[in-house]
Amino acid sequence: MKYISTRDSSKDFNFEQVFIKGLADDGGLFIPHSIEKFSEDEIKSMSSLGYKDLAKKIILPFIGTFMSEKELTESVNKSYSVFRKDNVVDLINIGNSKILELFHGPTLAFKDIAMQLLGNFYEYYLNKNNKTINIVVATSGDTGSAAIDAIKGKKNMNIFVLHPHNKISTIQRKLMSTTKDKNVFNIAIEGNFDDCQNLVKAMFADKNFSNSINMSGVNSINWARIVAQSVYYFYSYFLAKTNQPINFSVPTGNFGDIYAGYLAKKLGLPINKLIVATNENNILHRAISAGEYKAEKVIQTISPSMDIQIASNFERLIYDLSDFDCKATKEIMSEIKETKKYIIPNDKIEKIQKSFLSASLNDAEVLNIIKSVYEEHKIIMDPHTAIGFGAINKVKTDGLNIVLGTAHSCKFPDAINDAIKIKPQLPEELKSILEEKEEYEVISKDLENIKKFIKTKSLT
Ligand SMILES: *Cc1c(COP(=O)(O)O)cnc(C)c1O
Repeated sequence: MKYISTRDSSKDFNFEQVFIKGLADDGGLFIPHSIEKFSEDEIKSMSSLGYKDLAKKIILPFIGTFMSEKELTESVNKSYSVFRKDNVVDLINIGNSKILELFHGPTLAFKDIAMQLLGNFYEYYLNKNNKTINIVVATSGDTGSAAIDAIKGKKNMNIFVLHPHNKISTIQRKLMSTTKDKNVFNIAIEGNFDDCQNLVKAMFADKNFSNSINMSGVNSINWARIVAQSVYYFYSYFLAKTNQPINFSVPTGNFGDIYAGYLAKKLGLPINKLIVATNENNILHRAISAGEYKAEKVIQTISPSMDIQIASNFERLIYDLSDFDCKATKEIMSEIKETKKYIIPNDKIEKIQKSFLSASLNDAEVLNIIKSVYEEHKIIMDPHTAIGFGAINKVKTDGLNIVLGTAHSCKFPDAINDAIKIKPQLPEELKSILEEKEEYEVISKDLENIKKFIKTKSLT
């Protein structure tokens, strides 16, 4: 499969370049030149596969010659053997809906599912090519711990994680900062997540710097993550075994996870609607319901992994809406950069609404949902998942709603305690992180300082 940047169709890239670079040099995001649908028969034949076999089938067409089918099988099997469920995820009933539990990996959020695979892809690539790499990533809380777990202790790579100081939950921080491996560096930025993300983008854009440290990124714009995430849409669709139309409600921040659902739809999975569920940082809800893509100030909420205004993956949708026209996409992206907003024309909103619906919930609504879900179903729902669950009552859909359960409730004990006066427990094997010594560096949001820090600790 050939890839291009959303901002320039004249250059082709292969999967290796797409995976290792993360972001195109022109600032655009990588996307396949074209996507071939699986046929109905192919989809039918996938419907009884276990998670690992299904993952292999879906990912294989995307990786080209990056690795052989046998090597992919090994990577997939290794990645998904660390999950607490044999089939990685679980689909449970809640009233007339279902929750797709994606948090049975080592760091208790859906991000483990793509990240474990990326860790093994890196290991394979670096070994084979005798290279070293420095991974730099911004996190709103869950990406960081998932990336660290996937990369810690692996040879030929260091990882630097920037998180917003005091703006993630204590458990989220401890999952990152108690790692003892020498190739892990945590940086607490005095700023918010968008600051962290902008700093990482600026480091990538500085070619002298990024080339000098062989910098690579695993943020949610990385195409390999999107592909890995599309697998569980297929898997849960098959598991639901219904003739009704199926909608997915997706707690959304950077638009990565839901874009993976959109990719599944493009690959031929007959998804009805994708519901973009946001917290009060609701730029995407405003964009999809009213055409106003305009960043406001980031508000701190009880669903910190979604405290994001600039949804990086949205550019991929803008490219689609622009009829795959890179020049038009580039113009829209510069308009957004200059004016901080994009008023989406009506014909494009109509196109969006063919596949997407949206809703936004505030903290009080989220606490209420956690409470009522617990009272009615005895399920402790994390605040992000609760937003996905609450969103289905705010939109009109036909058929079965599957809510993506993006995190384990024990990552957000304060919110759970506020809602139902219960302290959710960490799984036994993770309890030790509560006692262990933490290591992280607090740095102001000064690009030069951060570059200096990373440079001195980087592998060369
Ligand atoms: C990252 C994250 C999200 C948002 O996912 P995006 O791909 O950024 O839209 C939602 N919930 C949890 C728990 C997360 O960690």
